[in-house]
Amino acid sequence: MAFVYIGLGSNLGDRKKNIDAAADAIASNPGTIIIKKSTIIETDPVDYLDQPRFLNQVILIETDLTPLDLLRHLQQTETGLGRTRALPKGPRTIDLDILLYDTIVMETRDITIPHPQIKNRIFILKHLVELTPELTDPVSGDAFRTFIK
Ligand code: ADP
Ligand code: MG
Repeated sequence: MAFVYIGLGSNLGDRKKNIDAAADAIASNPGTIIIKKSTIIETDPVDYLDQPRFLNQVILIETDLTPLDLLRHLQQTETGLGRTRALPKGPRTIDLDILLYDTIVMETRDITIPHPQIKNRIFILKHLVELTPELTDPVSGDAFRTFIK
């Protein structure tokens, strides 16, 4: 079993409902349970700025899925909730990112763990620290709370 932090984001449709439905879909996987959910916060878009504000949450799960199987399941869940990829970094009903998978560090064509945007997104750092105050970055060994100014 692995402890995995997943980032959930939505800026189209009923954003809260999309986030809750995605968490339910994740929990419906055999061998997967949700341990903790962060608060949900509203954030300004990054990268592509001309789009609605997002709701964001991070959840901690315990799962026996491998990183790649989990990614595939998350992508099926995104599609099932009506996500289309019309515009890279554009509006989406739901975005599901694997932020951390135990202390694994990996980079393949399909998957990079830890997620490369963690340190650039203050709301992700805050959510990780809210869930686990002493959580450390497996690459540097530093506590994530030290990245929040
Ligand atoms: P973004 O999340 O960067 O806005 P997408 O959700 O469209 O963009 O994801 C683009 C690609 O990112 C996916 O096809 C997936 O293979 C890849 N990817 C790499 N690492 C991860 C990860 N840790 N979690 C989720 N997707 C990832
Ligand atoms: Mg994504």
